[in-house]
Amino acid sequence: MKVYQNVNIVTCDQDFHVYLDGILAVKGSQIVYVGQEKQEILDQAEQLIDYQGAWIMPGLVNCHTHSAMTGLRGIRDDSNLHEWLEEYIWPAEAQFTPEMTTKAVKEALTEMLQSGTTTFNDMYNPNGVEIEKIYEAVKTSKMRCYFSPTLFSSENETTAETIARTRAVIETIKGYQDPNFKAMVAPHSPYSCSRELLEASLDLANEENIPLHIHVAETQEESGIILKRYGKRPLAFLDELGYLDHQAVFAHGVELNEKEIERLADSQVAIAHNPISNLKLASGIAPVVQLQKAGVPVGIATDSVASNNNLDMFEEGRTAALLQKMKSGDASQFPIETALKALTIEGAKVLGMADEIGSLEVGKQADFLVIQPQGKIHLQPQENMLSHLVYAVKSSDVDHVYIAGEQVVKDGQVLTVNL
Ligand SMILES: [Zn+2]
Repeated sequence: MKVYQNVNIVTCDQDFHVYLDGILAVKGSQIVYVGQEKQEILDQAEQLIDYQGAWIMPGLVNCHTHSAMTGLRGIRDDSNLHEWLEEYIWPAEAQFTPEMTTKAVKEALTEMLQSGTTTFNDMYNPNGVEIEKIYEAVKTSKMRCYFSPTLFSSENETTAETIARTRAVIETIKGYQDPNFKAMVAPHSPYSCSRELLEASLDLANEENIPLHIHVAETQEESGIILKRYGKRPLAFLDELGYLDHQAVFAHGVELNEKEIERLADSQVAIAHNPISNLKLASGIAPVVQLQKAGVPVGIATDSVASNNNLDMFEEGRTAALLQKMKSGDASQFPIETALKALTIEGAKVLGMADEIGSLEVGKQADFLVIQPQGKIHLQPQENMLSHLVYAVKSSDVDHVYIAGEQVVKDGQVLTVNL
């Protein structure tokens, strides 16, 4: 058993327990004690690690990203979503080679680990060769990943061909039998997939018994396109297809009215909120406070670095908090506890992983990050730790990261990715 002592622990558990001068005990991959210092726990320690007043919190959960797009950072600023996608992103992605993709994924893994992210929900359209290389990179990194092969309607492929190709990727992922690398089905969006492909994607998710992952209600323009094409807004259209009765992660959820939020509360859908991407592409501000009040799980996400332009979850959580205060005109909304939970346990709920990760509790996996505030002038005075973790911390402040009890970042250096 390893015991981390002299630490201030933000558990992000249900009651938001915080232990000052506490200890965290880990046996194998699991947490076996978290709380105030206890002599009997210290006595059992095979290894004592004194973190000298550092802060510990759960590893961050990025609910929606596109790691393979890391090579597109900075490719195009100052465009709205549809122009950005059609004129810059999709043509660039069409040029990707398996080597470029693997390199980009490794860079994304490095950036995520360095900034305290331990679990991510990825969306990309790979072929057979790439998925093996991507899996190798993720496995070596030790990160937990939901990998969602993306489906588009295209003139070059029939729906049956797209589904067959995607099914092959999912079967490959299933063949790994790795609980840290699982699949979702990701039809890209209601506007880029035909009705037939959306229906076939849901069938595939049902057959494979895995969740769906899709961009939904991202912009007003999307609502206009879907209304014109099907006579319904995006949520009602997907509801008609059966998407709201299947476990799903909807990325964005910016364009949602009161009735739609009510419907979501009664569905199996969770929202991945991407505040900076939504700002940068001028998509809008998601009604996160209303979604949370209605009981819809909302996790935080970065989207890709092509619309962000980094994978810094702390920055994302801070932006989410600031936006909800501004949107509601009420500074008491989205308080620091809510922000810290949105980065961790709520993200775990969005991915259906809250029994294993997302909070520091006995029996859960030991996924955590360590920040030493000493010597960091922007994290003083140290006693306001919770505030700093939302409003002052930078991703580069993360000193150490552990996944399943194993150290993956030491003194800011990633140990598990070879670039
Ligand atoms: Zn996205």
